[in-house]
Amino acid sequence: MRYHCAKSFSEAAEIAAGAPGITRFLAGGTDVLVQLRSGLVTPDDLIDLKQIPGVHDISRTPEGGWRIGVAVSGAELGEHAGVKADWPGVVEGMGLVGSTQVQGRATLAGNLCNGSPAADSVPGLVAAEARVTVIGPNGAREVPVEEIPTGPGKTSLGPGELIAAITLPARGAAGGDAYQRFIPRTEMDIAVVGCAVNLTLTGETIAAARVALGAVAPTVILVPEAAAAIVGTALDDAALEALAAAARAAASPISDKRGTAEFRTHVAGVLARRVAQAAYARAKGDTK
Ligand SMILES: Cc1cc2nc3c(=O)[nH]c(=O)nc-3n(C[C@H](O)[C@H](O)[C@H](O)COP(=O)(O)OP(=O)(O)OC[C@H]3O[C@@H](n4cnc5c(N)ncnc54)[C@H](O)[C@@H]3O)c2cc1C
Repeated sequence: MRYHCAKSFSEAAEIAAGAPGITRFLAGGTDVLVQLRSGLVTPDDLIDLKQIPGVHDISRTPEGGWRIGVAVSGAELGEHAGVKADWPGVVEGMGLVGSTQVQGRATLAGNLCNGSPAADSVPGLVAAEARVTVIGPNGAREVPVEEIPTGPGKTSLGPGELIAAITLPARGAAGGDAYQRFIPRTEMDIAVVGCAVNLTLTGETIAAARVALGAVAPTVILVPEAAAAIVGTALDDAALEALAAAARAAASPISDKRGTAEFRTHVAGVLARRVAQAAYARAKGDTK
């Protein structure tokens, strides 16, 4: 195995594009090293991104959003008062990843590019309408987060392409987001279902919403029908039931040791209700 310590994204892209075998980027390493040690994936080329200038930074964008570097850990994100105030749902999704030790290393970009349908930070990013900057042999492009994972362990990134940053849009007034997951025990487990809701209000009425579900399809999914069920409402009982029904209808999960497809489908509806109520309360300023 060849270990490379890239000093720029273009250098990382160049090494990856020219690498003949299995290539992995090393951010926090909490997926890569587990896969390596268990013999699941032994990269021929391992390209460390942590020495690239700016990868540990969180900065304001000119539009009032946040640009998050690809080596920012879950712990660092959770301690960032600005991101937490604007996007508490994104932060709580990433905050559920692993243990204290894992939080010290794990990154948003690694969680996204590992390609797990149950990745805890991804529904929150999708609901927030986050975008990633992709750098590769043909230059840079901006891509919506939901277009990166294409299936379990798979991404749309081409040969030599990698993510250089994640951008969250400006929060704006009267907005709130939230993420919750169901797991069979209280921590350190993989989501049976995860759900994120992001919404904005005009008065008490929901003016816009995005709903994302994890672990109920081969990738995290955006569910426009679920968002449509609550837009124009004050999240009354009828709206909550329509939301739950749309979430259940969008779910096409597998059955495994963590839960049957039927159970996951049911939980998708239950979580959608709860998470929408949490996001609504935040948007109204009732909770943080
Ligand atoms: C004990 C334990 C518990 C865990 N619990 C959870 C959990 O509860 N929820 C959850 O979602 N995950 C969990 N995970 C999985 C893991 O911690 C997360 O997926 C984490 O966010 C991965 O980030 P990383 O920086 O460590 O990624 P890495 O391991 O460094 O990389 C992961 C993948 O992403 C690619 N990659 C990394 N950075 C980039 C980039 N900038 N551009 C392109 N590709 C890139 C790598 O090539 C690799 O394929 C757990 C892992 C462990 C070991």
